[in-house]
Amino acid sequence: MAAHLPPGSTIGILGNGQLGRMLCLAAARLGYRTHVFGPEHDSPAEQVASQSTVAAYDDEPALAAFANAVHAVTFEFENVPAKAAAYLAAHTHVRPSWKALEIAQDRCKEKAFFASIGAATPSWAKIDSVADLKEALTRVKPPAVLKTARLGYDGKGQAKIMDAGQAEEAWAAIGGPTAPPDSGYAVLEAFVDFTQEISVIAARGADGTLVCFEPAENVHTNHILATSTVPARVAPGTLARAIEIASRAAAALDLVGLLAVEMFVTRDGGVLCNEMAPRPHNSGHWTMNACGTDQFEQLIRAVAGLPLRDPARHADVTMVNLIGDDVNRLDAYLVDPAAHVHLYGKQSVRKGRKMGHVNLLRPKSV
Ligand code: AMP
Repeated sequence: MAAHLPPGSTIGILGNGQLGRMLCLAAARLGYRTHVFGPEHDSPAEQVASQSTVAAYDDEPALAAFANAVHAVTFEFENVPAKAAAYLAAHTHVRPSWKALEIAQDRCKEKAFFASIGAATPSWAKIDSVADLKEALTRVKPPAVLKTARLGYDGKGQAKIMDAGQAEEAWAAIGGPTAPPDSGYAVLEAFVDFTQEISVIAARGADGTLVCFEPAENVHTNHILATSTVPARVAPGTLARAIEIASRAAAALDLVGLLAVEMFVTRDGGVLCNEMAPRPHNSGHWTMNACGTDQFEQLIRAVAGLPLRDPARHADVTMVNLIGDDVNRLDAYLVDPAAHVHLYGKQSVRKGRKMGHVNLLRPKSV
């Protein structure tokens, strides 16, 4: 790949949801075309992309045509099938690389990775059977959370365990009886009595330059992100530690692109890593209106080999997700000069579905 992609080049995006949509819009501002690839028709990204391929992620002829039609590829989700990632890596430039995806796809690998860079996680154990779970509950004492190692999101594939007698019930609740033996099927995690949840989005350029957006304070409702607020109400030392962890993780992965790291803040001001995602993240949507450059533009810049921009923030902000019916209550936001509304073009409203978000700006306090 040339040192940087000239304007007019096409950036391929695997996945065609709202993150893909906002990536396409950022790419267009920098003069790039986009080609999105994903399984759904009339998707949020397809509506704004220059080109679209609607196909399954394991459709090799479609992947071959896609690889031929683009100058570089990135993705908007981490559960890219290994075969598709390998195929694309062999035929075009993929940023970030498979290494980051592979780790982020699997909670066991993710926790081992955090340990390898000196970042703490809640205490945990790998679980492949109900016998493993019963044994692990003698070490990782309840309250605890049992999570599938792969393909869980927004609280799906999770069961809370309040006492050891609930092992069988929790194992059944996450689909454990169907688990192949020795698969690294699930993790048992100590339930953290956190004061706040925070996340940091690191951006790393093709030349190794690394910059982080400020940590956001996140509130989840029913396991789905409800709001992100910046500045976070967290001690400066804790915020500095969070930024250090995200930076160290992105560098250790030799990542070109974005890495979002979600963390719990403990009562003593410590930081425990929960999970990471090598892509734009819902908890980074506040950057779209509160910073000179946002997470989507940083990713496009990294993929295209352009210099990254200063991630400095010029306003305080709360990002409010519009989930399900919330999208029908926009009137007040539409007339509020401090409210920046972003809608994703989804036709049908469903419970728990992310329909858009609003960034509410306030004058910068710190
Ligand atoms: P996750 O899918 O791991 O991001 O979990 C979704 C949400 O569930 C988190 O953002 C937390 O609000 C909550 N949660 C997950 N794991 C834990 C834990 N070990 N302790 C406390 N809360 C948790």
